[in-house]
Amino acid sequence: MTTQLLSTTEQDLERAAELIRAGGLVAIPTETVYGLGANGLDAAAVEKIFLAKGRPQDNPLILHIHDASQLPDFCREIPDAAWKLAERFWPGPLTMVLPVADAVPKTTTAGLDTVGVRCPDNDATREIIRLAGVPIAAPSANTSGKPSTTTAAHVLHDMDGKIAAIVDGGPCRVGVESTIVDLTGPMPRLLRPGGIGPEALEQVLGALIVDRAVTGEIAKDAVVRAPGMKYKHYAPAAEVLIVEGPAEAAARYVRARFQPGDAVLCFEEELPLYAGCNPTAYGRESSPATLSAGLFGALRKLDGGDVQRIFARCPTGGGISVAVRNRLRKSAGFHIVNAEE
Ligand code: AMP
Ligand code: MG
Repeated sequence: MTTQLLSTTEQDLERAAELIRAGGLVAIPTETVYGLGANGLDAAAVEKIFLAKGRPQDNPLILHIHDASQLPDFCREIPDAAWKLAERFWPGPLTMVLPVADAVPKTTTAGLDTVGVRCPDNDATREIIRLAGVPIAAPSANTSGKPSTTTAAHVLHDMDGKIAAIVDGGPCRVGVESTIVDLTGPMPRLLRPGGIGPEALEQVLGALIVDRAVTGEIAKDAVVRAPGMKYKHYAPAAEVLIVEGPAEAAARYVRARFQPGDAVLCFEEELPLYAGCNPTAYGRESSPATLSAGLFGALRKLDGGDVQRIFARCPTGGGISVAVRNRLRKSAGFHIVNAEE
């Protein structure tokens, strides 16, 4: 199959919608990461997503809608909290888990009786959903286990020849996947941190339980609420080791161990500390949004050559830094050292 490259002209968006309606796979731009989209109501089309990504069948997909008014079409029992969150954060990087309606096939939800729904903050993609007349089921548009894709070039690298088209909407603004909150239990539960920080959710929800999976490692056989969380994720070929602690101490730790084949993934402010240690900056520590926007691109860059080990610096703090920390820890397989110990 030849993968078509589409732009965001109305004509190309119509073409993308047509391909979706016909059961094809189309990579779509969103503010978080690129999605690998198919008609979310067509089990055979959704099946192709799992094949193209090499994605385990028990890992559900997020259903993308163009407007909150579509919620009742795909979810049952929508609590007030869901409407409040939609009002405050949609379109935006927030996925809500709600009881699934009969219209949605089991393939989309990986057999769960709940569905993750989101309205993305990207005009082109919302227009494709509207034109297609169906919700788009989409996970991130990367080969399963690899860092997510935040440019059309990343998607082409992983999906060339495997999907019908890629809509190039430029680089993703947020750069990490959506925040996922489960509204099906007695208390709202944060399943995955993302573009919307836990503090902002708490402002709307009052209380919020933070799932263990957000910060800690999950055993392979564990029953988890967001099944994607148990898999090794976002991982370049090289081994990733997170070095925590103050800048100077971390640099001393790394410099004492640095060998040929190693690389450093750090903040722009720390580049001078790693001269001669093959450093790549993924953003500025003083601006966490630049870290989330740059993380996956930097991990992909380091995935290309002959780097065998990456010493990585990870931000502290709340907001979107929680998501950056979560993704980096997973890419490191929770391999973390403290430079001062
Ligand atoms: P991705 O962004 O590629 O990781 O794919 C979507 C992620 O959303 C999955 O890995 C799941 O962790 C999560 N998800 C989707 N639907 C549900 C659901 N019904 N319940 C819990 N988590 C979900
Ligand atoms: Mg993913």
